[in-house]
Amino acid sequence: MPEAGPIAALARSADLSGLAGWYQEFRRPLPFRRTRHFYPIWISEVMLQQTRVEAMLPKYKRFMAAWPNVQALATAEQESVVMRWQGLGYYSRARNLHRAAQMITTDYNGKFPADYHDAIKLPGVGDYTASAVLSIAMQQPLAVLDGNVKRVLLRLDDRDPTEFYNHARLRRAAQALLEAALRQGIEPGDHNQALMELGALVCLPREPRCHACPLALSCRALASGRDPYSERLKVRPQQPELPVQLYVFALQNAGREYLVIQDPKGLFFKQDFFLPYQVWQDWQLLYQSPGLETLLTQSGPLQARTRFTHAITRYRIDGHCLQGSWHTDAGMLPIFSAVPAQQNPLEPAVTRGSKSVQVRAAVRRDLPALVPSSILQKIGLAGS
Ligand code: SF4
Repeated sequence: MPEAGPIAALARSADLSGLAGWYQEFRRPLPFRRTRHFYPIWISEVMLQQTRVEAMLPKYKRFMAAWPNVQALATAEQESVVMRWQGLGYYSRARNLHRAAQMITTDYNGKFPADYHDAIKLPGVGDYTASAVLSIAMQQPLAVLDGNVKRVLLRLDDRDPTEFYNHARLRRAAQALLEAALRQGIEPGDHNQALMELGALVCLPREPRCHACPLALSCRALASGRDPYSERLKVRPQQPELPVQLYVFALQNAGREYLVIQDPKGLFFKQDFFLPYQVWQDWQLLYQSPGLETLLTQSGPLQARTRFTHAITRYRIDGHCLQGSWHTDAGMLPIFSAVPAQQNPLEPAVTRGSKSVQVRAAVRRDLPALVPSSILQKIGLAGS
């Protein structure tokens, strides 16, 4: 996307103040928009990644009620932060938030680092989050580039949808537009939020509402006469759904503890503990938890517990939960036998390739903190 051209023309026009005025009038009254404090802005920006506002809002309110400031979050138990994240998915975001809160309190005196290069060193903070927090909370001249902003920019310039992935060029275009907004006396945080809000409410992926758009006079896609309501900006061909069968094994020992495993090479739940499981497709075993085969040959008889449906990315899951028993005998599982003898066999990591598998035993009341997947609810193990 060239720096000269429609974006530059737009930058010279009065449209950017029109956009700012539109934002003041039509923005959604979201709680994190009422403040310039970094904490609610940071939490909301992280939660909104991969999650729609409507789905995120109740969880945001509960999160803020539990940990109203960065110090409270830093001293929270990580497991309870992960538990509060249930339903938002991508649980590494919760762990990163918690670790970043600890760094902010210890290394930055409880304040979000004001330097972009320091900010992106915080766990889970990349270009988008750093630019959003620094521009909205501290009015730094940093453009944000999320999916909504990319779509608006591509349409303004009537560019080919494949340029959606040309992050560097779009970033330069977004920055040029932001600097033009600054010259027109518009604050960077307001300009960034206005563009994001425009993409979320007006410049919609499939049916943009051009009649209500404050940038319509500068929009090349609209002026080109080609159908702006087509799916020209649909960015990726949808992957076909993949039906699979998931067998989840709820195995308890004599102490009523469940066996849970975290396998970074698993098909699902790579970053989280989960009950041992197998994934089948058309009678082919796609994946099973490490050691499960041995475990099943030595466990007691299995009983069907629950059947459920679930979806993870493109996988359409026909789920079965089976319950049985396992024995706390460190020698019986290959994965346990690799654990150094001086350590608790149920705690430490076990090397498997370059990644490590973690195996633990947990009583039922501790399961929700360890196993954040909503499947736990579906199989009736989320309550105490
Ligand atoms: S005029 Fe239509 S296509 Fe162009 S930016 Fe506005 S909503 Fe999007």
